[in-house]
Amino acid sequence: MRKNNKFTVVGLVLAMSLLVGCNEQTAGSSDEPTKANKTYKWKMVTTWPANFPIFQTGAERFAKDVKIMSNGRLDINVFAGGELVPPLGVFDAVQQGQVEMGHGGAYYWSGKVPAVQFMSTVPFGMPASGADAWHYAGDGLKLWNENYASFKLKAFPLGNTGAQMGGWFNKKIESTEDLKGLKMRIPGLGGKVLAKAGGNPILMAASELYTALERNTIDATEWVGPYHDLRLGLHRAAKYYYYPGWHEPGTSLELLINQVAWDSLSPDLQKIVEVAAAANNVWMHAEFEARNQEALQEIKEKHTHIEILKFPKEVLAEFKRLTEETLLEEAEKDPAFKKVYENYKAFSEKNAELKAITESIH
Ligand code: CA
Repeated sequence: MRKNNKFTVVGLVLAMSLLVGCNEQTAGSSDEPTKANKTYKWKMVTTWPANFPIFQTGAERFAKDVKIMSNGRLDINVFAGGELVPPLGVFDAVQQGQVEMGHGGAYYWSGKVPAVQFMSTVPFGMPASGADAWHYAGDGLKLWNENYASFKLKAFPLGNTGAQMGGWFNKKIESTEDLKGLKMRIPGLGGKVLAKAGGNPILMAASELYTALERNTIDATEWVGPYHDLRLGLHRAAKYYYYPGWHEPGTSLELLINQVAWDSLSPDLQKIVEVAAAANNVWMHAEFEARNQEALQEIKEKHTHIEILKFPKEVLAEFKRLTEETLLEEAEKDPAFKKVYENYKAFSEKNAELKAITESIH
């Protein structure tokens, strides 16, 4: 139902923008370009490798939708990570106005804005459906923008990976002892939890993961799930593929917009951006669900040297305990974090209560 509703909204806004377009043509006798008929050429930088499916192709799909819906008035040129700025330089490039837009994950900027990590995902937190509910129908998106206001940035959800895998390891994780000294690529709050467990979390862009794992610069890495992970060749650099993705139960991706650039758009273009982001949020999540189930079969059938293993109960229980400790400690340090934490916690507890009833079919 939720997805259908979004597409209905897309249809309505398309119809509305066509109506606005007609009015402009009727009234458009002036030669002066107004905000309503001005053409914008924008740049968007992403954290993703060139042509990287769903993430990069999804950002490009969003830009194409905006161009079609705006009849070419908002033309966004999309650049992959490293083409204009480094993959993790997206936040700075958008904030400083070097480009108008960016696509990445809010938790990549946790060093600058700790509170926005909740907008990506929270270990043992809500799945994609709950994250969308919080963003669109709860306070999530409002708090997201509240936390970016002082940076003169605006954000929308643009994609969700669904529940992720636990990651690729070259040694078995049989107890919490095996986490000690583990050098692992893992972002956001999950990384903080691993550090508490005695591990050494590292943040790296997708393009660096295979080499780092293959050369033993890191002992383990997570990325997203079967489809993307095969694309990055991680199955050629590690033997054990662990689940569940306790650290990322449903990660929302982020469309970042420079506030001054956003304010320069006419209301219909702003609405087109908002609606195209929502439509592609659904598209990316749907793609992940469909492609991941195919890729899991591929691993089972063609890459039989890979052992797909569940983290032991003891390890998951420790991760959960340390997650609660981490969230409380971070909340103590930062009032903005605390405010978002309390809002997220209240929402997710009710969400879990609902799902325990409505989804208890097994
Ligand atoms: Ca991940």
